[in-house]
Amino acid sequence: DKKVVLITGCSSGIGLSLAVRLASDPDKTYKVYATMRNLAKKERLLECVKGLHKDTLDILQMDVTDQQSILDVRDRVVEKRVDILVCNAGVGLMGPLEVQALDSMRQILEVNLLGTIQTIQAFLPDMKAQRQGRILVTGSIGGLQGFPFNEVYCASKFAIEGACESLAVLLQHFNIHVSLIECGPVNTDFLVNLQKVELGDTSLQQVDTHTLSLYEKYLQHCGSIFQNAAQDTEDIVKVFLEAIQSPSPAFRYFTSGVMPPLTQLKFTEPDGSQCIRAMSELIFSAEEQ
Ligand code: NAD
Repeated sequence: DKKVVLITGCSSGIGLSLAVRLASDPDKTYKVYATMRNLAKKERLLECVKGLHKDTLDILQMDVTDQQSILDVRDRVVEKRVDILVCNAGVGLMGPLEVQALDSMRQILEVNLLGTIQTIQAFLPDMKAQRQGRILVTGSIGGLQGFPFNEVYCASKFAIEGACESLAVLLQHFNIHVSLIECGPVNTDFLVNLQKVELGDTSLQQVDTHTLSLYEKYLQHCGSIFQNAAQDTEDIVKVFLEAIQSPSPAFRYFTSGVMPPLTQLKFTEPDGSQCIRAMSELIFSAEEQ
């Protein structure tokens, strides 16, 4: 029997790469339900699998903020069970907090936090009844430490950590493993898809000049990090596979192999001041180029 995998957010990035890898598995180990909010974007995924995988891939519409669409997908899983649920859909929000509209902030929390939770909710009773399962969640270093100009995004990713850790404690009793795959910067459409306050945006006219110059520095830092240090989705997929194939997966995986030094500092120096100072220096004290 194939392992049934359901993945959210498969039209691009990490979700797409993972769906392609699992659906193309040489041993045909997996049956992949690759879900995406907008089915009009399925061509990219279809091109990547080259149409060869009719028996290992099904593409379904699912918006993680729309409970009915989640339940409809659940009903369309022909095996009537999901062995591995991958909650991956997510969006970013970047800019000075004082210009963020309530609706934008709400949207981020709707997708990243409630979208993840309500996806898990929909599949949890069946997994519990099966007394087995895997729940994998695309986490972020921004879920473990704060990044300036990413307050709401980080809040949503911190919240995921809490939800997953809480679930992990309980689900041990059901032989269900919860794992977070903690990503640093990854080369995906994330930067294109995120809601970002651009430097020329009129909303920034109300922001003080000190914040603006720090935001400018942040954007430069972010750009160079993504250019120089971002991982490719294939690297992330390897870590997902490690978690999927392990008989007793860890709760947390770092896609870089180890917890980044600044994140370590947070845990070794719990009063927080060193970590916050070091983060500020890393982002804001780079020489102007
Ligand atoms: P991406 O933008 O390419 O992929 C995100 C996917 O989520 C897209 O396919 C998008 O359509 C989908 N999505 C958005 N809203 C949705 C909704 N309401 N319902 C269903 N799908 C929805 O970027 P990515 O980097 O592949 O992002 C995947 C995950 O990785 C996200 O949770 C993101 O927060 C996380 N992450 C990314 C990075 C990075 O640097 N790229 C770093 C850390 C964590």
